[in-house]
Amino acid sequence: MLKKIGLVLLVMLVLLLVLPALIVKSCGGKTLPDANVDPYVVAVWNHRTLELVRMPLGEYLTGVVAAEMPAQFHVEALKAQAIVARTYTVAKIRASGGGGCDRHPEADICTDSTHCQAWTLKEEAVAKWPFFRQRSYWRKILRAVSETQGQVVTFQGKLIDAVYHSTCGGCTENSEEVWTNEIPYLRSVSCGYCSSSPRFTETVQISAAQVAEKLGVPLEDLKIQVQERTESGRIIKVGTGREIIRGLEFRNRLELKSSKVSWLQEEANYTFTTVGYGHGVGLCQYGADGMARQGYNALEIINKYYTGIQVSRVGIGE
Ligand SMILES: [Zn+2]
Ligand SMILES: [Zn+2]
Repeated sequence: MLKKIGLVLLVMLVLLLVLPALIVKSCGGKTLPDANVDPYVVAVWNHRTLELVRMPLGEYLTGVVAAEMPAQFHVEALKAQAIVARTYTVAKIRASGGGGCDRHPEADICTDSTHCQAWTLKEEAVAKWPFFRQRSYWRKILRAVSETQGQVVTFQGKLIDAVYHSTCGGCTENSEEVWTNEIPYLRSVSCGYCSSSPRFTETVQISAAQVAEKLGVPLEDLKIQVQERTESGRIIKVGTGREIIRGLEFRNRLELKSSKVSWLQEEANYTFTTVGYGHGVGLCQYGADGMARQGYNALEIINKYYTGIQVSRVGIGE
């Protein structure tokens, strides 16, 4: 009898030890990709906690990819985003000759998306995803960073200014038509892959009084007149009734999604319809996802949106 109880206890003990391991395995407990393959350490100014944190470049990039691109995107789009974010970051790292974040002299980069580059803690990113997707989304982001290790975008041997935006609305723009500098790799290209973006078009109504206030013009002087548009329809220059401003400034003041905008004026209201979301220069994120879903890889995506570039490797002893 005692022997039997002993045997039963032994079997239970073995099950207790072995079962958890089996369960973990059946839940996809493979080792996660190692994102920390890039050799740099980045000094990051967290603009929300007001702290300077140092972390390996790979760890930093996972937080950037999670913050800058929806995690449900195809892994090849996330890889393109990782390469672009690495390019932007390496160009900032002081130890590699970069300029750092000019608002925080001790930092290479800050987490304020309006100044440097958005970044999120893993816990914050994961909490926004559906529970049953959390593990697979995070794994995808880790893969995007680790499988592109060391890859940066260069033009004639120099890191590019790797700008990107959410949704181009059909066609990206030449840099000088949105800003002022003509940059050889930031050329207008037709996209055609971002039409499924939820931000492809938006309509907002703003009262004439508010439009005048936002544009800094007395209501009686308000007279919006487009001076110049790009071929694809973005405003280059526009008159407000008092001054002529650039399309990007017009968009910012009115808080519109894009400067590819038309409007209807009815009595005391303006109805603005925008196409696309963001400045429209460089990589189109929803376009990148659209391309990836049609079978293009990260390098093909990057080569589409940046003209005449190369994807090179930095800092891994090659
Ligand atoms: Zn900054
Ligand atoms: Zn696009």
